[in-house]
Amino acid sequence: MALDIVNPADGTLITTVPVTSADEVGEHTADALAVFRSGVWSGLAPRERAAALVRLATLMERDAETLARLDCEDAGKPITECRDGDVPGAIESIRWFAEAADKILGATGATPADVVAFTEREPFGVVAAILPWNYPLAMAAWKIGPALAAGNCLILKPADATPRSVQHVAALALEAGIPEGVLRVVTGDGPTTGAALAADPLIGALSFTGSTATGRSILTAAAASNFKRVSLEMGGKSPQVVMADALGYGDALIDGIVEAAFLTAGQNCTAGSRVLVHESILDEVVARLAAAAQALVVGDPRDPTTQVGPVVNDAAADRILAAIGASIERGARAVAGGAEVRVLDGGRYIAPTILTNLDADDPILTTEVFGPVTTVQTFATRDEAIAMANAVDYGLQATVWTLNMADALVMARAIEAGVVSVGAYSEGDLTVPFGGWKQSGFGGAEKSLAAFHQWTREKTVWIQLPT
Ligand code: NAD
Repeated sequence: MALDIVNPADGTLITTVPVTSADEVGEHTADALAVFRSGVWSGLAPRERAAALVRLATLMERDAETLARLDCEDAGKPITECRDGDVPGAIESIRWFAEAADKILGATGATPADVVAFTEREPFGVVAAILPWNYPLAMAAWKIGPALAAGNCLILKPADATPRSVQHVAALALEAGIPEGVLRVVTGDGPTTGAALAADPLIGALSFTGSTATGRSILTAAAASNFKRVSLEMGGKSPQVVMADALGYGDALIDGIVEAAFLTAGQNCTAGSRVLVHESILDEVVARLAAAAQALVVGDPRDPTTQVGPVVNDAAADRILAAIGASIERGARAVAGGAEVRVLDGGRYIAPTILTNLDADDPILTTEVFGPVTTVQTFATRDEAIAMANAVDYGLQATVWTLNMADALVMARAIEAGVVSVGAYSEGDLTVPFGGWKQSGFGGAEKSLAAFHQWTREKTVWIQLPT
């Protein structure tokens, strides 16, 4: 079996890659366990692993243009996003975790005088990561960095549609001197290759980024197999709360909301897909947002002037257009977009869409559309804004736009999300954890030293001293 890798820009076939069967996954995990136990990687001093990872980051820098092109072609992401965001972010992630390799510390117990007890964090052995298509390289780097720094052997399954940047990095890992078999890539689809990883008895930890429905099935498979440690980073329905004083941010307010809504054509886990605006400034905010959305350049993602590229495939386009259509049928008004745009034959492009006048029971307010669509609702009080922000099953990210410190702090505490930003749409940088609450996340965050929880297990050593 093979998968077609198709360019979402124009539907052309780029290449095909094999679907790795369950038996082949089993061979990979057995072999990876042998590599782990040989100590060629796990037995190195952490500083030596760090040096190899720094070499990998340097090689990624050398090949940055290639890596950006591969993600642009496979995922249909604008080349500028890949070149200026995803690729430098991925390189920084590998470097950051390389530097952290010898900072994975344990603790000493407060024991009686005749006992010495300490804890240490050890690698699992064989670990796996299952990746989404929307940030192919960036999500891989969040996993490669800490998993390898901790001494594990990592098996990466890129999303069905976007394997090539990850395959390129695996080749660079060998060039960097990371021993063969430490980082391997298995291409394939979810039901075959992904499900085999989730059920594999030799994998000690599995980190998944993707949809909530798939996350649920992975957790079930882990429980039914070997209780591998599972970390899930899943979908979102992130609010952008615009308080009455938010116009004080000037253009940064509108630019930030538009970026949150339409980055990667809105196919982004933290997409700001719900704008909640104080009633006193609703008309002005809607008018300015509509103008800014209409001004975005929708085009061929390979063109550096493009700001919004295609959606990933036909099924996604049909799903997004159906969601917009159903909302309009219920009375919603598209103040920007609302329809498909013709750019290149074979690609599917949707105009950045802003919906107002929404029915309170419209499913678009609570489900992840995963496309260039955001809704605008209004509120009168801070408490009402908090209640609306929390009225979804997801809890990944939220942005609060206010210059009032008390409002900012009260809302940062009250909003149920793993990341709350104030005054800018942001997921934070590598120094702070990123992970979802509620049905957006489970089992531990990515980034920062907190990421090592996903990739190491704690051991207590208890030593009775002879008396
Ligand atoms: P998806 O769940 O369809 O696929 C993700 C990965 O899971 C792919 O590699 C796929 O092959 C695999 N998979 C599918 N079925 C599987 C199964 N039964 N068992 C094991 N693996 C299986 O998601 P997607 O469409 O690639 O990505 C979009 C989703 O990812 C959105 O919901 C988005 O919000 C989410 N996402 C979350 C984050 C985050 O950090 N929270 C980041 C990016 C994307």
